[in-house]
Amino acid sequence: MKRIISIAAVCIYAAILLTGCNAKPRSYGIFCFDTYITLTLYQTDGTHTDADIFGECRELLTALDHNLSAHTDSGELSDINAGAYASPVKVSADTYGLIKRCVELSRLTDGAFDITLGEISKLWDFSSENPSPPDNDTLKALAGQRNYENIVLNDKDGTVAFTKDGFSLDLGAAAKGYALAFLKERIKSLGVSSAVVDFGGNIQTIGAFPPGAEYYSVAVSVDETNAAIGRLRIGEMCVSTSNASRRYFEYEGERYHHIIDPFTAYPAKSDIKSATVLCEDGLNADALSTAFFVMGSDKALALCDSLYGVEAVLTLNDNSVRLSNGAREIFYE
Ligand code: AMP
Ligand code: MG
Repeated sequence: MKRIISIAAVCIYAAILLTGCNAKPRSYGIFCFDTYITLTLYQTDGTHTDADIFGECRELLTALDHNLSAHTDSGELSDINAGAYASPVKVSADTYGLIKRCVELSRLTDGAFDITLGEISKLWDFSSENPSPPDNDTLKALAGQRNYENIVLNDKDGTVAFTKDGFSLDLGAAAKGYALAFLKERIKSLGVSSAVVDFGGNIQTIGAFPPGAEYYSVAVSVDETNAAIGRLRIGEMCVSTSNASRRYFEYEGERYHHIIDPFTAYPAKSDIKSATVLCEDGLNADALSTAFFVMGSDKALALCDSLYGVEAVLTLNDNSVRLSNGAREIFYE
């Protein structure tokens, strides 16, 4: 039997009024989460101007970025990282729910997705000007810790505590997908009935298909060429891709990319070149694409096919493609 993974109970869907439709696509760019985000509106009901819609999206994304970034001095994630070992840290219900789901996803993937890699991420520091590989012994000491088992979540008080010192949270593999789930609901509540958000490797289709189309057709690209290896025929979904080309540096002829194998603390090396995951919920898609990249194709497909409503397109290092059972029906070249 397929397992069901939890999805956030976010806002109630707004009733969509298809009056006064404006059917010409309009795009808008926002730089947030250290990523360039493109919002494209296909159809709105005219109750809000495009400027209002884009303005609200920018505001929402900026607030989430601030709250969930490990690189600010304020915000709930930095509060947790700074204080959760000393005493439980009270956070908003949204952030509490996010951390709880991330711990569940860390367990579900047997630690391939691990939100407690903060100290390892800091050492690799992929966003620094002149990155170089960290000291091997320091990395070894941090590898394979499964520190998500050392997080205590108190549902009643809404607090997060760490039972061990020396680790911190990094939501880099999940925050974009989480933000997309929020953004989807906000956009719909503003009278948008058809839209697409492209969020650095995470694509969210929203609402009905663009005028004249029978489905959304989303390209799957697997490396820096951005060439499509195929397309997915989908309805409202989040499609997340994790691969070694998105963020990396080269040092003494070696490429070091940003997806870390928590068991080695080094960039993951599996048979997968690029992992694309699609499902309704953005957080699940984002976290699982990172996990699948780390796990390798055999384990990833076994897990994927055991989960309800989750599909995957995995491109291997030899450029062959492996599909989950359900993806065979919606992926075409
Ligand atoms: P993504 O592009 O969604 O695959 O996420 C990659 C980002 O997530 C990295 O830049 C790190 O901040 C963080 N990260 C890297 N490896 C992992 C991992 N195995 N589990 C959780 N987060 C990770
Ligand atoms: Mg991810």
